[in-house]
Amino acid sequence: MSGLYTDDILDEVARANDIVEVISSYFPLRRGGKDYKALCPFHAEKTPSFTVSPAKQIFKCFGCGRGGSVFNFVMLKENLTFPEAVRVLAERAGITLRRRDGSKGEGAGRGVRQALEWAVRYFESNLRHPTVGQEARNYLERRGFKKETAEAFHLGFAPPGWDGLLKAAQGDNIPVGLLESAGLVVQRDDGSGTYDRFRGRVMFPITDALNRPIGFGGRALGDETPKYLNSPETALFRKAENLYGLPEARPRIGETRRAVVVEGYTDVAMAHQAGVTNVVATLGTALTSEHVRVLKRYADEVVLVFDSDEAGRRAADRGLELFLAEDVRVSVTALPEGKDPCDVCRDEGAEAFGRYLAAAKDALDYKWELVREEFGAATSPAAQRRALEAMLATLGQAPALASGEANVRRDLILARVSQALGISAEALWAELARARRRRPTAETGGAKTPPAAGRGRRWPAERELLTALVCRPSRADDAAARVPPAQVEDTAFRRLYETILARPARRDRDVQAALRGIEDADLASLAVELYERGEGIEACRQEADTGAGPLAQMLEKALAAIEQLDRQEDLATRERAARLAKQDSQALKEFTEGRKAQQGVMPRTATHRDKMGK
Ligand SMILES: [Zn+2]
Repeated sequence: MSGLYTDDILDEVARANDIVEVISSYFPLRRGGKDYKALCPFHAEKTPSFTVSPAKQIFKCFGCGRGGSVFNFVMLKENLTFPEAVRVLAERAGITLRRRDGSKGEGAGRGVRQALEWAVRYFESNLRHPTVGQEARNYLERRGFKKETAEAFHLGFAPPGWDGLLKAAQGDNIPVGLLESAGLVVQRDDGSGTYDRFRGRVMFPITDALNRPIGFGGRALGDETPKYLNSPETALFRKAENLYGLPEARPRIGETRRAVVVEGYTDVAMAHQAGVTNVVATLGTALTSEHVRVLKRYADEVVLVFDSDEAGRRAADRGLELFLAEDVRVSVTALPEGKDPCDVCRDEGAEAFGRYLAAAKDALDYKWELVREEFGAATSPAAQRRALEAMLATLGQAPALASGEANVRRDLILARVSQALGISAEALWAELARARRRRPTAETGGAKTPPAAGRGRRWPAERELLTALVCRPSRADDAAARVPPAQVEDTAFRRLYETILARPARRDRDVQAALRGIEDADLASLAVELYERGEGIEACRQEADTGAGPLAQMLEKALAAIEQLDRQEDLATRERAARLAKQDSQALKEFTEGRKAQQGVMPRTATHRDKMGK
């Protein structure tokens, strides 16, 4: 994820894109003193609090707190990832990008991109062709597609036959090598040449977030298998990162902060046709955490629409854990047996589809229902135990310091589990902490404190620490030797700390260079806020980098304060663990005496902790 491009490239692209110039190309800026001002594009306001500093090459809104480098601005404004924003700005300045790994990335991809764009036009012209496209047009009509929908999604047709595309490409002087890199043709086994990959299929072009074609999904006209044939993974086409229909759905997702995820390309197109335009689909693969991160940029809430069959259920199950891990509110809806969103939109209309979406269940409720069923059907304590563990594993996916709302939802579910199964909430909390420790994603320090609500007592010292480090990034190593990032409780502070540490070359240069390397828009906003705060502390501007000025003092005080808190908390944790172990061994005793054998679940933590404890 981080550091796709080298520091030199980032600097070059940033130098060629003055932040004032770039932002003025979106809306006018008015000069006020040494900075420029405008109405903020990221929140509604009547008096300008959006400020751009030409000297620092950063922007900052004093209303909504958004801020960062020129890269972060383009990310936010265009809803792009950091590398995408770098690419857009490089293109704007006519710079050829070279990736950190030395591959040309874009440069080499250009020919392939052109081949893909050519193929989109080629397939489209086939669909329009009076005779060639007849069968495909009939199919689309049967499925309820309007002509405008087909055009909006640039649907096309790959005619039957082995070399239609090859021949057309030859006629247009497209090299076969490019077709192969684009995944459009396949080498014959005997090495005697190539043939068209897509034959007799309706073609759905798949684009990246910048709406450039990266691959295709081909839908069979009849019952041939596979129903959908996708482009193979190529340098451009990465199924784990891209979503079908994202450029079309992005405006509406941004407006509503809500995204709907379905399984098929036809489902997306049909939902759009019915007027539900915040719908995207995965590319014939399971949801990945990259997908979730992409959606998280635009949406606060995601609705997963799945088939009501077993496979659909399992997919939903896995999908919801991914979203929980990313602290995105997620709900799940199942359509009636044998129906997909395309059928529902066509046969019952947008309203009906809307009703299914509105009836989506919160992910944890949904999971709890499944677990309850399983638990009810369980014939042995071991089977019950497994059901409970599945529930706790899901709950354990949510970061320990998730948003307040997520915590409330989790607490409600835990209370329900506790009541329904007759297990004490304390024991469940202990189990949950264990489940979280087993969590494969290395969320650092996640399980440290149970339900920390809001800002803890460590927060002020942590803010001082990060303020000092943002203003003096070169001190990050010294600081980490005493208080490593894992010891920082606040998630955002911790991630910012890790980000500063991750790129030593950058942070040794200057503050602006360090800010420029922050890829996450939220972290960049936080960094700018802290930077402004540090700058505001008088006299720190004159302070030499190694001097003992206010910032250095602040850093020292913050480190000492956190070390002190660590010592206190260590003690408290040990006391708490001892208390819990006592309670648990009591619960275990009750359990083994059979008093809870009917509805109880063995509190395995007790045995575990008894062994571990002193
Ligand atoms: Zn704002």
